[in-house]
Amino acid sequence: MDALETLPIRCPYCGERISVVVDCSVESQEYTEDCEVCCQPMVLKVYVDGEDNPHVEVRTEND
Ligand SMILES: [Zn+2]
Repeated sequence: MDALETLPIRCPYCGERISVVVDCSVESQEYTEDCEVCCQPMVLKVYVDGEDNPHVEVRTEND
């Protein structure tokens, strides 16, 4: 598995579909990244499951 994976997400602010590159060598991490469309800060929670599949959850900074 490549350490870097591109995952599709939907911005919680503007609803646009964008993709983010995540580092799958880390089991789970949470960080903030600005939406490339509306530039608002999305909180990304990235985790890798038991079968090495990366997942990403996205929410607004205020949740
Ligand atoms: Zn957006």
